[in-house]
Amino acid sequence: MTARLIAAVMAALLSALPAAAEKLKVVATFSILSDIAGRVGGDAIDLTTLVGPDADSHAFEPSAADARIVAKTQVLLVNGLAFDDWAHRLARASQSKARVVVASQGVQPVSGHHGHDHDDHADPHAWQDVRNALIYVANIERAFASADPANAAAYAANAAAYRQELQALNTGIRRALLTFAPARRKAVTTHGSFAYFERAYDVEFSSPLGTSTEAQASAKSLAALIVGVRDAKIKALFLENAADPRLMRQVARETGVELAGTLYADALSTKDGPAPTYIALMRHNVALLTAAMARGL
Ligand SMILES: [Zn+2]
Repeated sequence: MTARLIAAVMAALLSALPAAAEKLKVVATFSILSDIAGRVGGDAIDLTTLVGPDADSHAFEPSAADARIVAKTQVLLVNGLAFDDWAHRLARASQSKARVVVASQGVQPVSGHHGHDHDDHADPHAWQDVRNALIYVANIERAFASADPANAAAYAANAAAYRQELQALNTGIRRALLTFAPARRKAVTTHGSFAYFERAYDVEFSSPLGTSTEAQASAKSLAALIVGVRDAKIKALFLENAADPRLMRQVARETGVELAGTLYADALSTKDGPAPTYIALMRHNVALLTAAMARGL
């Protein structure tokens, strides 16, 4: 063999071996899941997010670049509950060898019952109950430890620290909301993404759309919503960061009810926004809701 050929063979061999410090490659379908995964994975993972801040996962259409990312990943984290089914198709189409991990596995589904003409799917927005985020953490920790046993202790330590923060968050949310009488714990928002929040924290939400942002409110359901807002003496309407605001603006105009801010339902904000992490997102939503309730909702 010539020296040149030997060098080429050596280079090929070396590139086929994982470097000692190579990190577990993880792709998460959307920003909230990615933040949770990042807290469990810490420095041991190389994390990529497909649907970024303020973007809508329901209507996401993966690109060829997304397919290339998924083809190379070792772990593909999806929410499940039909929130991000496109990820399964993407994994198949890209012939990815990744283990696909459904973060919501083990969550008790809640039906999304606030839309008017949507299907029977469970509400996919399970993270809106912090106790479900704890289930996500457990699933993610197990998946990382199994894909990368060398770092299992680090994943366990990261998960334990994060779990404590989440438990404190859950207690804080309950405490903040339950100071209000049940009649005040009501809100109207753009799409039906708060069924888990509603059940966990005893706040009654209604929304003109179903559990997906893809649905368009029909004229009939819009009229029903306007009547409902008036009848229930609703005092606050909320926009959502990844949903079209026009419908809510129309309801606000026609009922004279104030728009009380933007809730973060399906996506984080950018880093300089009010909800750059999952914990900040939950705190921001609760602060907006309680501020409206305090004004006499
Ligand atoms: Zn949604």
